[in-house]
Amino acid sequence: MSCRRFQQQINKFTKDEIDPEDLDFFIAHAKKCKDCYEELEINYMLNVGLEMIENDDKASFDLAGQLKKKISQLERKADLRYKFNTCNRIIVCTAYSCIVISFIASLLAYFRVL
Ligand SMILES: [Zn+2]
Repeated sequence: MSCRRFQQQINKFTKDEIDPEDLDFFIAHAKKCKDCYEELEINYMLNVGLEMIENDDKASFDLAGQLKKKISQLERKADLRYKFNTCNRIIVCTAYSCIVISFIASLLAYFRVL
């Protein structure tokens, strides 16, 4: 993901409206690009901080810490999603292999009968 694309996605990320397809690239970029991370942090602090003030939320004002926590939670979710998808693919491949093997076995059985 480019810096420009990242910056276009910051508001969506802050409002939890970012597309799941973009999320992995967004997080990867946030971890490797210091400038973009700083911009994300400022945007997050402004948006979430203002929301907390408006709602008179007495929760912690460690917004930078909250952002890091949010990113690591999303990373864990992405990791679980990846593992789930990998398992899914293995199951589908195994099912297709079984279908092909049983088809070949039935063909062999059919030709032996003739
Ligand atoms: Zn960047």
